[in-house]
Amino acid sequence: MPSSTRVLRVDAQQPDPAVIAQAAAVIRAGGLVAFPTETVYGLGANAWDAAAVARIFRAKSRPASDPLIVHIAELAQLPAVARDLPAVASRLCGHFFPGALTLVLRKSPRIPENLSAGLDTVALRMPDHAVARALIKAVGAPIAAPSANTFSRPSPTSAAHVLEDLAGKVDLLLDGGATRIGVESTILSLVDEPPRLLRPGGISLEAIRALLPNIQYAPQFAAEKDTVPAPGSLLKHYSPRARLLLFRGDDSAVYTAMRAEITRHSQVGLLLRQRDAEQFHDLDIQIESLGSNSQQAAERLFAALRALDKAGVAVILARTPEERGLGLALRDRLLRAAVGAVAEV
Ligand code: AMP
Ligand code: MG
Repeated sequence: MPSSTRVLRVDAQQPDPAVIAQAAAVIRAGGLVAFPTETVYGLGANAWDAAAVARIFRAKSRPASDPLIVHIAELAQLPAVARDLPAVASRLCGHFFPGALTLVLRKSPRIPENLSAGLDTVALRMPDHAVARALIKAVGAPIAAPSANTFSRPSPTSAAHVLEDLAGKVDLLLDGGATRIGVESTILSLVDEPPRLLRPGGISLEAIRALLPNIQYAPQFAAEKDTVPAPGSLLKHYSPRARLLLFRGDDSAVYTAMRAEITRHSQVGLLLRQRDAEQFHDLDIQIESLGSNSQQAAERLFAALRALDKAGVAVILARTPEERGLGLALRDRLLRAAVGAVAEV
């Protein structure tokens, strides 16, 4: 384990090749590098190196049952990672790569057992971020990278978030500023028939459905007591330390219920869209605005959860986002952060 984490700043559009070369050398030597992608920061290791992959699990305190996503820089790397591609895979790649879509495919024999948690499948993505792409190319191998946070904490959308969780546990951090999308990739399983959305994310269900009309989405949340949950289905995830309560209902009913809830606790924080936040400006409490549309909400969500934790609130009140576009990903993250606590009002 490194005793300290080196931080190098890097331009998000035109990364300095010398900086990328240093990061690539760390990965080639079996080390860990945290780097920006368009979704969230990733914690990367050489995907072919099982020992380096094991270090990712240790650094994040991630259970061995939760497989990693493999990141590639060009389609030519795909056959080394996955096999038996269904016909629809090339259409999806043509449309959504590079971008915030992860495909679950049959894995190639070259994928280390620990990377894929012993499954016969592998999750694969081509990030749309100059730093991530340059790094993968410079390493000359796919990079295994989950989000660069401690397991079950809110995902990192800035270099500061990575350091909050992983300082001293990662060799090098490339600081490329705040991430553009702010929620993780959409995960689509092509080993199921019909194809199944496993996690809503940066690419909307509607956009995928335009190409794959038979795509299925049935959110399944496993409780922590379940011994072998499907990968990524744990309900408690993306959690702030504070307790999060979600409210579902009309504006006025939600505002009334939230005011009643606020009187019940001494340290309450609000996580609301700008127009909702304005309803509470008479109160002396911490309010984090999610902006005025779902793009802004996605960009700000994880940073806002971390900010509320820093402010020391005990309870966070928020609304359930609408179930379309990026709203589906926001809803999934908030439900998990709330560990299912939703008040119908
Ligand atoms: P993260 O990058 O931290 O968001 O984690 C990667 C996500 O991809 C986790 O939720 C995993 O469970 C999911 N994942 C990775 N590989 C697979 C796979 N083979 N099948 C299903 N889900 C996967
Ligand atoms: Mg994660």
